[in-house]
Amino acid sequence: MNIVLLGAPGAGKGTQAVRIAEKYGLVHISTGDIFRANIKDNTPIGQVAKSYIDAGKLVPDEVTCEIVRQRLEKKDVSAGYVLDGFPRNLIQAHELDKFASIDVCLDIDVDEALLLERICGRRVCSCGASYHISTLNGKDTCAKCGGKLYAREDDNPETVKARLATYNIQTAPLISYYGAQNKLKTVMCGTKTPDEVFAAVCGLLG
Ligand code: AMP
Repeated sequence: MNIVLLGAPGAGKGTQAVRIAEKYGLVHISTGDIFRANIKDNTPIGQVAKSYIDAGKLVPDEVTCEIVRQRLEKKDVSAGYVLDGFPRNLIQAHELDKFASIDVCLDIDVDEALLLERICGRRVCSCGASYHISTLNGKDTCAKCGGKLYAREDDNPETVKARLATYNIQTAPLISYYGAQNKLKTVMCGTKTPDEVFAAVCGLLG
């Protein structure tokens, strides 16, 4: 099963992608994680991506599509994958259709008012785990691997507003794109916990 995970920044895509991948035996592919790893290692891709990420804009399509195309050529994706954060606009979706076959698009729908508060309180670990300060009780280490938690550089109010605008203008049209292909499944989250959202996701995926 090949899944595209859609949702605004802070909707919980990363958290759900990790769980979906584990339960269904899929590979989790996050373009944001790939860019952050490249920035950390100061690679040419990282140097290009950083200014766009810091501004809350999308990294150019040619760069992003090529990264995903190459990733999907690896053998480990043969049992299926969850694309977390790709595609993020119609150009990328059309490009993806040239080299992949998507079975399901899961859209995690969260009220925009909640997103800002969620993202600004987010703390992440380099292992991919994600937390919110309201449930950490002052802890700053990852419960899964013991790594040091930190706030992503682009999780500040100014960049988050730009990311939400980018989402609304460029990414939200993908809901209709996958809807028209009868591949869309929507999870209405409201204020639900990650466990409740995951239960709803499993109900939709079967
Ligand atoms: P994420 O971790 O998915 O929130 O992504 C963090 C940032 O990486 C985004 O705000 C974009 O700047 C960049 N990014 C991630 N995925 C893509 C994509 N598919 N296309 C362009 N830029 C992306």
